[in-house]
This record gives sequence, C-alpha cells and structure tokens, in this order.
Amino acid sequence: MELFKKGNKGKEVEDIQAKLSALEYNLGQAGVDGIFGDYTDVAVRKFQQDRGLIVDGTVGEDTWRELVEATYRLGDRLLYLKVPYLRGDDVSQLQKWLNRLGFSTGAVDGIFGPTTERALMDFQKNVGLDSDGMLGPTTLDAFHNLRKILHADFKVAFPWEEKVELTSSIAAFKDLKVVVDFGHGYPPDPGAIGPSGLKESEICEDLGLRFGNLLELLGARVVYARERGQFVGLSERANLANKIGADVFVSFHLNGSSNPKAEGTSTYYFAGGDQFSKEGKRLAQDIHEELLSSLQRQDDRVHGKNFAVLRETRMTAVLIEPVFITNPYEEGLLKDESFCQKIAIAVFDGLKTFLGINTQDC
Ligand SMILES: [Zn+2]
Repeated sequence: MELFKKGNKGKEVEDIQAKLSALEYNLGQAGVDGIFGDYTDVAVRKFQQDRGLIVDGTVGEDTWRELVEATYRLGDRLLYLKVPYLRGDDVSQLQKWLNRLGFSTGAVDGIFGPTTERALMDFQKNVGLDSDGMLGPTTLDAFHNLRKILHADFKVAFPWEEKVELTSSIAAFKDLKVVVDFGHGYPPDPGAIGPSGLKESEICEDLGLRFGNLLELLGARVVYARERGQFVGLSERANLANKIGADVFVSFHLNGSSNPKAEGTSTYYFAGGDQFSKEGKRLAQDIHEELLSSLQRQDDRVHGKNFAVLRETRMTAVLIEPVFITNPYEEGLLKDESFCQKIAIAVFDGLKTFLGINTQDC
C-alpha cells in the first residue's frame, strides 16, 4: 500500500478520514474533504497512539488495517471461523459478550479463532439456536435481547428501569409468566454469609437475573419479586405472583449451615400436612436433575417443605439451593461467573423439560 501523509489529497485520504470520523476523531471544520491537513495529521497520530501503533502521522499498511478493524461494528459482516482469521473490534465485542455470559473465548484479542467459534456454538446451543458457529442476524438478535446482562452494571436489568421489547421464536415461552424471586434482601436481610463474606441475597440477585434474562430471550414475561438491594416480605412476594397470574414461581436461595463441610444441591417444592404440590414436585425434580448434572455437586435431594413462598403461591413454585454458600469451596465456585451462568442455565433447562412434558399447564 502507498503511504499517505500530510499534504496528500484524494479518494484514499477521504477513506482514511471517513474511518477516523466514524471513530469520532476530530477532523475540524473541513471534516471529510479528501485533503490530508493538520487536523487529519493530529487525528491519525492520536489514533496510532490509542491503538499502540508507531506514531508517525503516516497511514501505511499497518495503520490502514487497524483503521479497518477498528471500524467494524457487530452486524456489519458475518463472523465465522475462516482462514485467515477474521479480525476486528466487532470480534472483540463478541468475545466480551461471550465471556460475560460464561462462554469463555480466552483472551479478548479481536481474532475469531477456534476457541471463539466453540464459545459461540455453546452460546447458540444454550439459547436454542442452530449451533453453526456463525454470528449472523439471528444470533445477533439473541445477544441484543440479552444486552441487559451484557452490561457490567446489573442495575439496568430490571424491567421497571428499562423497557425492553423482546421477540421470540419459541412459542412455548411466549405466554409464560414467571416470577423470579431473589431470596432475602439486603439490607436488612443478607441471608447466609460465606466464609469470605459473599452474601446469599446478592448472589441470588445475580443468579435470578441470569435466569430471568434467558427466559426473556425466549419471549417469556419475567417479573422480579423484589428489586436488587431491597427487602420485601415473603407474603408480599407470593401475593405479587398470585395477583399477576404467574405460571411459575422460582425462588433463588443458597444453602447455609454452621458446619462448613455441609455441601451439595437441594431443591424444594411445597408440602405441608398431607398435601403437596404435584406440579411443584415435578418441576423441582426436573430442575434438580439439571443442576446435579451441570454442577456436579453432592445430591442433597428434592424435598417437600412448608416454606412461605411455596405455600402461599397459587402457581407451580420451587425454591432452589444449588450450593452451600457457607462451604468455603462452594462459596469459591460462586465467584466464577461461568459457574453462576451454569446454575441459571440448569434451572432454565429444567423448566424447559417441565414445560415440554406437560404443555397444557402453561
Ligand atoms: Zn435463603
């Protein structure tokens, strides 16, 4: 490639300027005019500085390639594994999203290699898409619907803070109304506290949001029984679910014990006196099975319990305790985003199994 620097003119300079301008580098009053002047010179140098290139104000092969890669946005082109590997900021963005969702791509290097392909295929499989390893419009839509968890700040994930229109291709979830309940609520009630200080209430918020986002992706309506960092009474949670006519109620908890060796996965449905919820038991079993096979923790079984949120809700309701937060090893697992995502996916898959067997109940 020819070298372009201050004093040059023409179509190529215009291309360079168009890319700089798309990246929001200041080209002064003249803007994209095809003349490599002072502003363009400064913009090129600034760009080179920002991208770790040699700063010489000259656009040669390296700087041009970097400009091309930097201006790719997700959706501009189909991303897939090919040789030579596709490179660009769109690939970096994809990698960030996949990692955030718990599908590891390794380093965020902007290069679409085999590890990124594998992570993308895992993601597609998990959201029920064709697992072809290609980022086209359908998969991109799936990401956009999940954008709430793709942002670092979970605060935006609540439906009353951000209205999000969702579309779905999976009919079974379309008419489904799910209440997701984050156990406890700090302050004042942190629930159980792990040896290194993790609070049950806060981890439950993270897990519940991950689960809720998967449901919304498939078009289900999700209502959270409380906001993050808020406490709501147990009856109030159940009343809310009854009032809106929810189909399913899922309460997220973590187990706690004064014995730090206590460990494992348990799942609960309503049972009291000589009564129990048949559907609740079935859903609890389906979820429990998924949790066991995905998390590989000790099987602490499915139990019928007279917990308030199970007793007072009129729809199919379950309460999950995927691990013991008071067990140092299991608490450590909760610090790994991909482990948290696994929990959410397992609960989701369990619900999917439940719905598949008996669709007239939803
Ligand atoms: Zn709890």
